[in-house]
Amino acid sequence: MAQAKERSSIGPRKAPKRKTSDSIFYELTRSMCPVCKVIIDAEIHLKDGQVIMRKRCSEHGRFEVLISPDADGYLDQLRYNKPGDIPLEFSTEVKDGCPYDCGLCPEHKQHACLVIIEVNTGCNMACPTCFMDAGTGYNLRPDEVETMLDTFVRTEGDPEVVQFSGGEPTIHPQLLDFIKMAQEKGIRHVMVNTNGRRLVEDPEWAAEFCALNPMVYLQFDGFEEETYLKLRGESLLDEKMAALEVLQKHNINTILTATVERDVNEHEIPAIIKFGFKHPAVRGIMLQPVFHTGRHLEYLDPMNRVTIPELVQRIDDGMDGQIVKSDFVPVPCCHPSCQSIAYAYIEGEEVTPLARIIDVDEYLDYITNRVWPDAEGEIRDALAGMWSSSAAPGSDTMADDFVCATCNVDFRIPDNVAKHIFAITIKDFQDPYTFDIKKLMKCCVEIATPDGRLIPFCAYNTVGYREDVKKEIMMSRARERLERRANGSSAKEAAASSGDAD
Ligand code: SF4
Ligand code: SF4
Ligand code: SF4
Repeated sequence: MAQAKERSSIGPRKAPKRKTSDSIFYELTRSMCPVCKVIIDAEIHLKDGQVIMRKRCSEHGRFEVLISPDADGYLDQLRYNKPGDIPLEFSTEVKDGCPYDCGLCPEHKQHACLVIIEVNTGCNMACPTCFMDAGTGYNLRPDEVETMLDTFVRTEGDPEVVQFSGGEPTIHPQLLDFIKMAQEKGIRHVMVNTNGRRLVEDPEWAAEFCALNPMVYLQFDGFEEETYLKLRGESLLDEKMAALEVLQKHNINTILTATVERDVNEHEIPAIIKFGFKHPAVRGIMLQPVFHTGRHLEYLDPMNRVTIPELVQRIDDGMDGQIVKSDFVPVPCCHPSCQSIAYAYIEGEEVTPLARIIDVDEYLDYITNRVWPDAEGEIRDALAGMWSSSAAPGSDTMADDFVCATCNVDFRIPDNVAKHIFAITIKDFQDPYTFDIKKLMKCCVEIATPDGRLIPFCAYNTVGYREDVKKEIMMSRARERLERRANGSSAKEAAASSGDAD
């Protein structure tokens, strides 16, 4: 009785109120600590219409990074997740687990659509944003490049695209031999990434280079002096225009590649695309939000980084309806959040996005549309060829795919269709902040190494492979130099024959 009396004098108990979480926990993945690079769990959350990654390193604390400003689009893009094609051969075994067994190891979920060969570490520029920290190091030798090409041919059977990169590949003394070698090995498309400086400074070499007809990815970040000063450390617009003149003179299919940095050149994107539409050499634009590796490690604010949906929106806002949001479709061969492409057919002033001629979105929806009658299966294959990392705007392959894709619609196709197709590609490369193992395991863009590995690009630049490969090459060069010296060569001869960079 006494107890009951006591309770009633206190009154009903006030239960503490539970707080609702500020986000929806969507999925668990693996990422890395941006400080020590240790692989750690990461949670993907949906919050206020955005997608964010949250992770915690036991040493360095908690990190949060913006994955996408568009949660609906992020969830919807999974429809484009195509089943991977398995390579004919793997180069490594499963031993320590992803991402330490690259590669490709038997756990990898996709073949290599595109292989990059970095022929040197040196460059004739010194950009503060350089993701590979170009500088002194090595030039690859022909035997090493041949091993890389042979690995690509062996693992793919019918390899599609090799891209020579660097450093700055055009200053490698044997780049032209490497291009010929790739072509002789039957690789369908040979591309070269360049800042364009040698094309302008060395016309004789430029003519020889262009005679081999590679596709050129020309660094081109905008039209404002401030943009080049901030991204490249020097004023460059005149040089870029001169490089484009050279490429136009030699009829070289060119893609303008812009690095996009917050508060530097996001606003220039529509102008770059409009310029590309009109320039006779330009077959496409590649937009790459800046990623933080190499010498550009510092993030001002990981929650305010440039993303694919933001760039798509900027294009939609700034292109007067020529290209809109719905013209972009995620690329199904890699993880669909890695890149998006819009194609347009250009005829004079008229721009016709492909997604408004046929329902690309429906054809490339792999989750809901499983069974296709034969004719439509062909159309789907043609579109999959265009929405792929191996797509080569301006090539006959692309023209064939375009003709096939539009065969059932009323659309006039001229003979030289390849020159009329324009691609706008946006790639969101990963850095230690945004690193997500589920994307990496389906990567279709690999960097070849002299020891016969093909390492996914985003693993190469974040996990430590770049540093390890450089160290291995430098050590083997040093050993070779010592052996040659021991056999009586002069220091200069020994350095030259071991392929050291200038
Ligand atoms: S990224 Fe691919 S190749 Fe590398 S370890 Fe993971 S599964 Fe293997
Ligand atoms: S970003 Fe390209 S051009 Fe600039 S320093 Fe690096 S390799 Fe050279
Ligand atoms: S390189 Fe990076 S962004 Fe591109 S497909 Fe591979 S994982 Fe995705």
